[in-house]
Amino acid sequence: MSFDSLGLAPALLRALADYGYTQPTPIQSAAIPSALAGHDLLAAAQTGTGKTAAFALPLLQKLSTSGQTMTRRPRALILTPTRELAAQIHDNFRSYGKHMQVSSTTIFGGVSMGPQINAMRRGVDIVIATPGRLMDHMQQRTLDLSGVETLILDEADRMLDMGFLPALKRILASLPKKRQTLLFSATFPPAIKTLALEFMHNAREISVDTPNAVATLVSHQVHPVDAARKRDLLLHLLSVDSRRQSLVFSRTKHGADKLVTFLNASGLRTAAIHGNKSQNARTRALSDFKTGRVTVLVATDIAARGIDIEQLPIVVNFDLPSVAEDYVHRIGRTGRAGMEGLAVSLVSHDESGLLHDIRKLLKQDIAINAVTGYEPSAPLRLDAGAPRPKQGGGGQRQPRQGKASTSARPNGYAAPGRGEHAAGNHKRRNNSRPAAKA
Ligand code: AMP
Repeated sequence: MSFDSLGLAPALLRALADYGYTQPTPIQSAAIPSALAGHDLLAAAQTGTGKTAAFALPLLQKLSTSGQTMTRRPRALILTPTRELAAQIHDNFRSYGKHMQVSSTTIFGGVSMGPQINAMRRGVDIVIATPGRLMDHMQQRTLDLSGVETLILDEADRMLDMGFLPALKRILASLPKKRQTLLFSATFPPAIKTLALEFMHNAREISVDTPNAVATLVSHQVHPVDAARKRDLLLHLLSVDSRRQSLVFSRTKHGADKLVTFLNASGLRTAAIHGNKSQNARTRALSDFKTGRVTVLVATDIAARGIDIEQLPIVVNFDLPSVAEDYVHRIGRTGRAGMEGLAVSLVSHDESGLLHDIRKLLKQDIAINAVTGYEPSAPLRLDAGAPRPKQGGGGQRQPRQGKASTSARPNGYAAPGRGEHAAGNHKRRNNSRPAAKA
């Protein structure tokens, strides 16, 4: 299958060729023709599958070939959960649309509203927004949504997780009824299906679960360690190659800040990205990480959601996520676009229960190896009744419904002391994509 055969315009094909994309990913092959034909779509797709282009390409084509562009009434609205995702989607639109006369802008919180209002006054075709700030503009009547012909809901499940359902309902109710709606989500809990039934028309359902060009090839490692020694172990692991770009997950914002201070003081160039940072600080941290000025990025789950960092070799879970499904989202940052990746988790005794949940969700065993010199004082418990950290303070969420699975493949990484004190080293190999069905 080629992009050509999907019915895309020459200007888009040129842009895709500029970026060296030769073949559509499965979600693109499935979504693009239906979206071009004007259908509503309910698409099950994770980050990393190429889903942004799956909605961006048909939308650009539709806008460039019909109607007036750059008026004060935007013709397309894209809703996405986080500022970083909005910025990333915007970059994608600019890249794919570089040979077209279609304009886009972002609307998200943490920055002043003035430039956003000015951009709207100048006239724009596509607005990429987070729900909270969009509501602010609606209330202040600084945005006219009466011309919206296409609505795209990106990462719909995560928007619901973040408490945006009331905002989404109000936004959806205020849009023109005659429009095309494309909904992308990794999982389909009942609330999403209800939303789809209420606000979409005869939506076609698409789900991809085949191995594909951007499949994750991730191997998983757990290092059991006492909670008090975690940061020393982290420093030890990161110091093996201090030039290697590593994304480190912390369950709490405060914990992320403490880690950054510690790692910087230890000589590793480290930055944090989390919800208490200003938008400028978050943007700078991400761009410094992308350009290699900082080698370690410490992130919380929500801030890191969907961030596209190319060829990230390693993701470290300093803390395990309190919701097992977030493990899948975290490791989605490595092993992207066919690259092999490594997910390392530092697990203390009180997190044994979380590890149990993750192993159950992944439906595969994870190698558990203590690192020499950092052996825990008590072994991990791997049964269902194993202990869990106390809730609270870390922005914990309730588990979501829906299924996710992931794949594993060894990538030759040898952790210091690997294999010693092994409590289990029995990885099952399985190259299927994370799959979520509608
Ligand atoms: P997404 O799921 O939209 O976050 O995309 C994941 C990554 O795959 C991004 O870096 C995209 O630029 C890249 N990508 C999207 N479509 C293709 C394609 N057809 N071929 C190769 N890479 C792609």
